[in-house]
Amino acid sequence: MAKLAYAVAKDPTSAQERDWYIATALAVRDRVVDGWAESYRHTNDTQNKRVYYMSLEFLIGRLLFDSLTNLGIVEEMRQALASLGVDLDRLRTVEPDAALGNGGLGRLAACFMESMATLAVPAYGYGIRYENGLFRQGIKDGWQQEYPENWLTNGNPWEFERPEITYDVGFGGTVDITYGPDGAATYRWHPAERVSAVAYDTPVVGWRCRHVNTLRLWAARAVDPLRLDAFNAGDYVGALADRVRAESISKVLYPSDATPAGQELRLRQEFFFASASLQDLVRRHIKQYGPVEMLAEKAAIQLNDTHPAIGVVELMRILVDLHDVPWAKAWDITQATFGYTNHTLLPEALETWPVHLMERLLPRHMQIIYLINAVHLDGLRAKGNSDPALLSSVSLIEESWGRQRVRMGTLAFVGAHRVNGVSALHSELMKETVFRDLHAIFPEKINNKTNGITFRRWLYEANPGLTKVLVDTLGPRVLDDPEELLGLEKFASDTEFQAKLKAVRRKNKEALSKVFQHRLGFPVDPDALFDVQIKRIHEYKRQHLNLLETVALYNAIRADPGRNWTPRVKIFAGKAAASYHTAKLIIKLANDIARVVNSDPTVRGILKVGFLQNYNVSLAEQIIPAADLSEQISTAGLEASGTGNMKLALNGALTIGTLDGANVEINERVGEDNIFIFGLTAEEVEARRRNGYNARDVIASSPKLSEVFASIESGVFSPDDTSRYRGFIEMLSNHDHFLVTADFDAYYAAQRQVDAHWQNGAAWWRSSILNTARVGWFSSDRTIREYARDIWNVPVQTT
Ligand SMILES: *Cc1c(COP(=O)(O)O)cnc(C)c1O
Repeated sequence: MAKLAYAVAKDPTSAQERDWYIATALAVRDRVVDGWAESYRHTNDTQNKRVYYMSLEFLIGRLLFDSLTNLGIVEEMRQALASLGVDLDRLRTVEPDAALGNGGLGRLAACFMESMATLAVPAYGYGIRYENGLFRQGIKDGWQQEYPENWLTNGNPWEFERPEITYDVGFGGTVDITYGPDGAATYRWHPAERVSAVAYDTPVVGWRCRHVNTLRLWAARAVDPLRLDAFNAGDYVGALADRVRAESISKVLYPSDATPAGQELRLRQEFFFASASLQDLVRRHIKQYGPVEMLAEKAAIQLNDTHPAIGVVELMRILVDLHDVPWAKAWDITQATFGYTNHTLLPEALETWPVHLMERLLPRHMQIIYLINAVHLDGLRAKGNSDPALLSSVSLIEESWGRQRVRMGTLAFVGAHRVNGVSALHSELMKETVFRDLHAIFPEKINNKTNGITFRRWLYEANPGLTKVLVDTLGPRVLDDPEELLGLEKFASDTEFQAKLKAVRRKNKEALSKVFQHRLGFPVDPDALFDVQIKRIHEYKRQHLNLLETVALYNAIRADPGRNWTPRVKIFAGKAAASYHTAKLIIKLANDIARVVNSDPTVRGILKVGFLQNYNVSLAEQIIPAADLSEQISTAGLEASGTGNMKLALNGALTIGTLDGANVEINERVGEDNIFIFGLTAEEVEARRRNGYNARDVIASSPKLSEVFASIESGVFSPDDTSRYRGFIEMLSNHDHFLVTADFDAYYAAQRQVDAHWQNGAAWWRSSILNTARVGWFSSDRTIREYARDIWNVPVQTT
């Protein structure tokens, strides 16, 4: 009430929902801030090592329930608001999603921030405060439309602007050399352009408010906001041009999750946040500890993918040029401080930058890269490696057709003391593929850290019904120790317990049916099997494999409508990169199939298809607790880990999937009777591709697939434009790089096993319970414990 009156300046009679939301958030924030100050003092007093998690993306979503849950005041707040006639669950939906990320990589950073706070690891997350988060997706005539996401329009009650924490970040210019009396050279960079980075801090509360960390996001401001000389001379536009150019750095998030943008603005973004963050952490270190030589003892920096890898070079510049640390010593400090997490094996997704662009934008950094490379290659030669093919494969500079590019993956690899993959399979494949030669030289660097998810958001907040059953059954300890979930195993076949979980799922499905009604204009049957594929739209994730199966099933039902079919709702959600044509066509295909299937009376009550627009963290929180089946069907060897697979299994959905990413480890834990694994393995995929895969033969030998292709190609789902999918079918018949056709029959068969299992209700629910029981290991608390022990060398608090 006081917050409403004094901070929002409204009285209860005129207050809108948004005013109530802001007032509530500010009241909650006050509690968080107390813990924040306490955590800050504690870290300073104990002189504990700090972790700096650098990521170009933080897909955090809404924060109100995160804070309420971790402070343990959800019910208290619900009642306080109810007494004022306000519904907390409605307020929850007023908060915009902070969509400062594309997908899995950004969401991982958000889960890690929460787990580091929970485990009381003193940490800062460093990133960019994009004014426009990932685009909002609309669907028009079945096609994706992109709209800007202005998440800050109505203010952001969680952040604190810190105008006093500002750093200059330079670009361009020249490098001066001066020689000391001993002949030693000193290099000074004189940038032609400067941009200010201004800090915005958001507190991140850990579970039970044990510890509060900081997410520090940088906004770009012009150093000289208005060129007064130009302004006074009447050149208004010219006076503002520099400002616009500077501030464009933190305007938009690049909307592609698997391919680098390769544009100058992207490199400016990367250097901007890496430089500001390094200046900030070096300043903090010197202020508290003095000598910069001790940095690695007091700071661990984790690179989330190669996007911040230029930070390796920036730290070298700070140490050598600004603090006169000798080169070899500076390199030791740098390597000991950095860790690097790789997220992809797709060769086209590995970042490289043209040398000429680097030279123009970051001339001193390019010199340092050459020197790092020279020392690196000389070291190898000194150890007897003289094979030119090997040396060029591990060089920081890639040369092809006379063009030179800087390999950011190699830079991150050599600049870090540990390099990790994000699932057991992915880490092994890293050693054999992208980093094979580097691994042979530095065998101690690569290690595995299988991803995890925070259970606070993905179970307690998203699925309060299930959480209550778990606490009632296993006691409140289960909230602190996810391994306690194993206690569910003994209830797996218990009819009464199964009934409780069924009731929870049923309610969640009813709620999702309302979302369908509201967004798509039709409800879905909560008794049907909810079959869910929600993730970025990408050929390697193979939403089209699911769509082909949908058409095959549709054909089969029409041919024999009276059979004992399993009623299903196929649910899709996900965004396609704006420039990715095939992915956008897959969205259109999903909507075209949905229109035909949903209006066909023959399959009514048996099959429904729905594409829910604008997939984001909040929509995920609504869909996941209502899912029966989790689609994780990527081409084996291409999904580094996946985390959607973990969220769904935790909430009791059974997985249908390939042996890819963390599916392999989910399979090992839940047991093969409780998961549907199908398709080629990573090795088999590799072999098929090597031997020249022929899709046409495979299609011809599968009557089902031939029929599906014929119906899509002839325009059954696109009567308004019968040629719409001709090129698409052509591509799958000729190239089929992602082996959709190769896995189709196995996938169709696995889906029929799903039907059979579902029809034996008790067996299905037993499997569902065993999924929840056995995936406690996928908590991001476990992942962070491993990073803390093996990479960062920092203690964690036991929960
Ligand atoms: C978890 C999550 C992802 C990652 O999903 P995958 O299935 O692992 O690709 C992407 N986007 C959002 C909003 C998520 O919550």
